[in-house]
Amino acid sequence: KQHAGSRLLDGLNPQQREAVEYRGQALLIVAGAGSGKTSVLTRRIAGLLENREAWPSQILAITFTNKAAAEMRERVRALVGGAAEGMWISTFHSACVRILRREAENFGFTRNFTIYDSSDSRVLIKRIIKEQGADVLGFTPANVSAKISKLKNELADVDSYARNANMDDPNEVAFLQIFRAYTRALTAANAFDFDDLIGQTVYLFRAFPQVAAAYRKRFTHVLVDEYQDTNHAQYALIRELTRPPTVEDDALVASGNGASLTVVGDSDQSIYAFRGADIRNIVEFERDFPGAKVILLEQNYRSTQNILTAANSVIANNFDRKDKKLWTAVGDGEKIVGYTGYSGHDEAQFVADEIEKLHLAGTAYSDIAVFYRTNSQTRALEEIFIRSALPYRIMGGTKFYERAEVKDAMAYLISVANPADMLALRRVLNTPKRGIGPATETALFSFAEDNGLSFREAMREATGLGLGPKVTNAILSLSALLDEGEKLVAEGKVSDVLTLLVTKSGLIEALRASRDPQDEARAENIEELIAVAKDFERNNPDGELVDFLTEVSLVAAADDLDDSSGTVSLMTLHTAKGLEYDAVFLTGIEEDLLPHRMSASEPGGPAEERRLFYVGITRARKRLFLSLAMTRAQYGETAVAMPSRYLQEIPAELIEWRQSPGMANSRGGSQPRALNANRSKWTGGTGDALSNRPLTEKRDWPNRITNQVRNNGDLELASGDRIRHTDFGEGRVQSVTGEGAKRIAHVAFDAAGFKKLLIKIAPIEKI
Ligand code: ATP
Ligand code: MG
Repeated sequence: KQHAGSRLLDGLNPQQREAVEYRGQALLIVAGAGSGKTSVLTRRIAGLLENREAWPSQILAITFTNKAAAEMRERVRALVGGAAEGMWISTFHSACVRILRREAENFGFTRNFTIYDSSDSRVLIKRIIKEQGADVLGFTPANVSAKISKLKNELADVDSYARNANMDDPNEVAFLQIFRAYTRALTAANAFDFDDLIGQTVYLFRAFPQVAAAYRKRFTHVLVDEYQDTNHAQYALIRELTRPPTVEDDALVASGNGASLTVVGDSDQSIYAFRGADIRNIVEFERDFPGAKVILLEQNYRSTQNILTAANSVIANNFDRKDKKLWTAVGDGEKIVGYTGYSGHDEAQFVADEIEKLHLAGTAYSDIAVFYRTNSQTRALEEIFIRSALPYRIMGGTKFYERAEVKDAMAYLISVANPADMLALRRVLNTPKRGIGPATETALFSFAEDNGLSFREAMREATGLGLGPKVTNAILSLSALLDEGEKLVAEGKVSDVLTLLVTKSGLIEALRASRDPQDEARAENIEELIAVAKDFERNNPDGELVDFLTEVSLVAAADDLDDSSGTVSLMTLHTAKGLEYDAVFLTGIEEDLLPHRMSASEPGGPAEERRLFYVGITRARKRLFLSLAMTRAQYGETAVAMPSRYLQEIPAELIEWRQSPGMANSRGGSQPRALNANRSKWTGGTGDALSNRPLTEKRDWPNRITNQVRNNGDLELASGDRIRHTDFGEGRVQSVTGEGAKRIAHVAFDAAGFKKLLIKIAPIEKI
């Protein structure tokens, strides 16, 4: 048989099989969640290798996260073994870094360029805004970097922006100046920001046809997962890599037909519009790649029918989409469980309790995941998980690399790897404190400029600045240390270089000597970074310092590669895309969280948030839990939360609502009171209407909450008042704090002890 061997086609349905076997220039697989898109992509790769239709080095597979890349490599390895080595299976960003490391010298960068994450970019932009006095015009690092990022995702650069800018508008002129200064600063520092990684690779391909031709020749098969979330720059990159030669290409370049391209995606799972993802890329694929074959998959292999029906019902509310009905042969499965907690803590306790039950019933922790819309929700979850001794791991956006002390240590490494990087040099200049103040920094700057030196060279020549001997020596010895580090890069291991720098600079010692107890933890974080470097050496025997820096920037910015064996995975809904778990907890299904309050008013915002909900629901194989809280601590305040509008889109009969433990208790529930009373900060309960019965009737329950709010909204309480609480009985108000909707009564109950109640929602009356 010419095509994939039967083993690779085992168990596939006819459409999947066709998708694996199809051999043509362009193939689009569109299908809903869990229908086997990623599996088909993986098997196609395995088939190409097994049939010797391609060498591993001729395959470029793009996934959305590092985790997805690792999983796909693992699956291909399972199918074809060692032939998997040498393939490029990576995210857009890591593929581009690899290309840029090889090719950056073509356009004025060197291969040891630095990658600026968004916080680095902001530091730089902040300085530029200040230098140009643009803060008075309302420019902030956040809005400027968002705008620049958006432009770069559309492949606009300073010059193209300038051509279209309205120069009569002072704001636009000012922005243009900032953008220009930022671009210059990046080039001077031999650095790319995150969006540049893609944009500059496209630029490279367009400006250097020979370079592009080499990659076009190399990659005969390009495969892209989650194509619905590609932005314009990513689309252009794919296009450059796979397009057939045009008449404009010169003879050298014009060979071959272009690579075969396979993309898979689901418009209903497009959740990155805020980063410029353009759903049109998938909708218009057939136009962009004439003759493209389109294959639809309809059978879902992941979830139970109840979960699928819920997902289908929710997403059906988005208009402007092609209706597709997923079905499964798995059977209905268990009902979805709903839970309304008093507070985020109460909700977290529910999640922890249910996880414990699942675990006792045989589900491995690693088959359980908890999703949330915003990172701020992790605090309550973590607190409860730690207290319950539940093993968990937070995936994605690891804060580790964002810690100041870790960034300090990294800045030392970067200063050695890329001496042009002023941002890094300025960071280490006076960290730890060595008496080099801002005035000295400025003096060094002008000295460098006046003498045509780089900042780093100016440090070496510091004697010429005419500064005091102490400062001069401080600069010189830092400079000597960096020189020593540079030398060691050539001979030693990354961990040796790092150890040298953080020890000799006094960075670790300063933290150790400090009396701030936090500093001991900071020192440990630096040691953890050294351990990370050692791990890297073990996994990459030939790895160089720049490879380590690359890995850190990509992992830190995206998701984390750590294996999650034996732990419950916590992550944002965005990170969850493409993954699956036996049991999934979707938390904070409330207005202002989902849809997020920032997106609710934006055009297309609520539809995108609904897709996010759809992505979350469809991650679950067997069990799905939806939870919310009545009060939510967010942005430093505790506010009344309302159930998400999307909850009403799920047929009521699919959800089995559980009461809040406190409520259940007062109606004869099985849990001991003491446990419940300790559970949440706001042991308020919510009144009879809510606590009498589970929230099953979707059409009236949000109103019940509203009524409750109205009932208590203007309840006047003062210290000394006697009140009655439906759960805690009678008590005396000690004091009232807060204002408006956030007024809190501190009450000494006769029997139940001291409680803090949110007056607006607590089931209380004055007596
Ligand atoms: P998503 O849209 O969420 O990314 P997907 O379409 O990529 O989903 P996969 O992750 O490839 O779907 O597959 C979902 C699950 O179904 C996986 O566990 C996969 O192993 C399984 N699966 C796919 N096809 C089949 C099949 N023909 N028989 C049995 N199981 C299958
Ligand atoms: Mg997938």
